[in-house]
Amino acid sequence: MIIVPKNIVTVDGKDRILKNHFVEIENGKIISIKQNDEKYFSKNKQRVFRFDDLTLIPGFVQTHIHLCQTLFRGLADDLELLDWLQLRIFPYENAHNKNSLLSSVRLGINELLLSGTTTLLDMGTLRHQEVIFEELQSSGIRAIAGKCLIDENNLFPAFKSDTESEIDEIYQLARTYHNTSNGKIKYGFAPRFVLSSSEKLLKESFEMKKDFEGSLYHTHSSENKDEIAEVKRRHKKENIEYFDSIGVIDDHSVFAHCIHVNDKETNLLKKNNVRVSHCPSSNLKLGSGIANIPKYLQKGISVSLGADGAPCNNNLSVFNEMRLAALIQKPVHGPLAMDAKTVFKLATIEGAKALHLHNEIGSIEVGKKADLVLLDLNTNMHSMSENDETIYSDIVYTSSSDSVNSVMIEGEWKILNKKSLLYDQKELNQTSKDELKKLLKRVKN
Ligand SMILES: [Zn+2]
Repeated sequence: MIIVPKNIVTVDGKDRILKNHFVEIENGKIISIKQNDEKYFSKNKQRVFRFDDLTLIPGFVQTHIHLCQTLFRGLADDLELLDWLQLRIFPYENAHNKNSLLSSVRLGINELLLSGTTTLLDMGTLRHQEVIFEELQSSGIRAIAGKCLIDENNLFPAFKSDTESEIDEIYQLARTYHNTSNGKIKYGFAPRFVLSSSEKLLKESFEMKKDFEGSLYHTHSSENKDEIAEVKRRHKKENIEYFDSIGVIDDHSVFAHCIHVNDKETNLLKKNNVRVSHCPSSNLKLGSGIANIPKYLQKGISVSLGADGAPCNNNLSVFNEMRLAALIQKPVHGPLAMDAKTVFKLATIEGAKALHLHNEIGSIEVGKKADLVLLDLNTNMHSMSENDETIYSDIVYTSSSDSVNSVMIEGEWKILNKKSLLYDQKELNQTSKDELKKLLKRVKN
């Protein structure tokens, strides 16, 4: 396949922006990036896709998502974290059956693809995790996912499992799904957070990660003040200090949020090369706080972006996260903090690095997988400047999911000319409405 865009934002080592270049793809990989050659194009007519007005960028990477929650959008607004979990999210997740979970996952994947996200790290849910994996596989999206582990739950006791069965189940799931779909699907060991996980569960799931090369450890940390006060009451330590004290912190650990983090903990994040997943919309909407991302970046700590779940955002588009990630820091750190190019990289190559996938994805370079997005930056609302650097500003400050024209994963179109090749939106909405109705009945009973 030959893709001929207007320009290419490569995010390569030199951050080159190429004009009059095309990308050639074979077996899902980028095999060459060369200057346009009309003779070559006419010889290979059937393989050529011309997008003369569109900008080609790497597919976006989101490092903290809850696909199982998409169905609950709009049903848990204006609450803070522990109430949000206790009153809404735990009862709803607890009421999922396979069909409602499938609807939720499909809604989420569809929204992610339509807004240009091609790789995600998903937190999963307590039951029927295989439904999530099966849909990730059949959609063809790139994902690291895993069962959400909960073996203690004071907030909503019905929503938990026992430690031993959690450990047995994740071993089976990881054996079944890790490194499947040509390596596109990997396993992520995902204890929910300290308050819902015994020390044994935190430790054993971390140890198990070592048996599955390329898998990750994914949890929430230091999101809310009441949460960390409770962690301190139980364990006499701050959240990240506690993780360190029990040895569940390393460079294959992705901690979502990291808002309420002291200097000592910041040094632990740095020392252990932990990946911080920054979720600005969710952090603002739940009133959790603002993570000190400029400080993390200055210290060389890995930062990437995630939309979190639909009921705490209420949108899965990475464009909102990029725009907010930039804007919310400026009142405190000054307007130079979090410039558009830096933020764009958090959503692409830095996301890939966070997941240890940077040799495969995150930039447009020969040898990498063809996870690509075409953006239309020519509308009335976009900049009229022809300056290359304006492209980052146009993407981060101006664009939205509406700017996404086409999306490809490993050389396969998922969205073409704004149309999903996977899902029928009308049918998806109808099924989801029916499933939500039934789920809400189950919550009541
Ligand atoms: Zn989350």
